[in-house]
Amino acid sequence: MSKALTGDLGNSQDNEKLNSAMDGKGSSDFIKIEVGKNYLYLLSKNYKAAFTHWIPAGGKSGKAFVCLGGLDRKGYAPDVCPACEQAQKFYAMKKKAVKQKDKDFYNKCGNTFHARLVVFMVAVKGFAVREKVNGETITTFGCEDDAAPQFLRLTEKQWAQIVGRKADATSNKKEVQGLMEKYPFLLGKDGKPDWNNLTNRPMVFEKDAGDFGETTITPSKRTAPKPEFAEMPTLDDAIPSDSKDDMVIAIEAYNEATGESEEDSGDDLKEKKPKSMLEKESLDDDDDGVEPASEEEVKKSKAESKKPAEKESADPFSSDEAF
Ligand SMILES: [Zn+2]
Repeated sequence: MSKALTGDLGNSQDNEKLNSAMDGKGSSDFIKIEVGKNYLYLLSKNYKAAFTHWIPAGGKSGKAFVCLGGLDRKGYAPDVCPACEQAQKFYAMKKKAVKQKDKDFYNKCGNTFHARLVVFMVAVKGFAVREKVNGETITTFGCEDDAAPQFLRLTEKQWAQIVGRKADATSNKKEVQGLMEKYPFLLGKDGKPDWNNLTNRPMVFEKDAGDFGETTITPSKRTAPKPEFAEMPTLDDAIPSDSKDDMVIAIEAYNEATGESEEDSGDDLKEKKPKSMLEKESLDDDDDGVEPASEEEVKKSKAESKKPAEKESADPFSSDEAF
């Protein structure tokens, strides 16, 4: 197969191929947490966070996009974000479905499209070797010679394990103890949290073999020198694409591949959408969608985002299943 792409500007398939080559982050840029113990060195305390949609393209592949609603909308902005809108459509189909099997299916589709909060950090994968020396077990940490810094994608749950989370009366989020509360050896000499203590020792990410692959994060008690690298990736490069056009292309491709087109399943739902928004979509392809059409619609979309269908689905997708 040729390594180059021969394309015709008039061929949307060629253009799409090239777009996805430019947007898609190679999987090698991201650390894959395997089942069992993973020894990671956090190379910096810095992080970036974004609500992220994962739009599947068949099999395990797909493309990540930043939710166009931004952090303020907490990952649910169907009035400005096509992926959120698609999630909303699936939840509406779930509500309408009669058979439990269909309800489950649409719920799963909605959860797939629903944005998740993802925190990106820079880390490197290492290893631990246990040896018995004179009857004493000694653990040595290290990194392979060809190890390179990669982006670490933390789920909301993993993030909470690191920094902790207070119980929030307005949501169903439980109190989670952060590493500084759980492991006093991470505190500084003054007894206050010293976050540098996360970067001077391996962190053990232990992943369950279960369906949701829950990951438990434990800092090593012993410090070990952090590996040094001449070049470090910039966190900005970890943030997925925010191109609305590409997002729409990816959603259309998904719908075509799965047969979930609007024609056969979304007619009624389409009617529920604000009328002026539908017109806007068909008339103005370049619409960036940031302005809601009217106050009425904003209220409507806010009301819809509080629908029980959305709440019921919160559990499976707040799971640890990383993409
Ligand atoms: Zn979104």
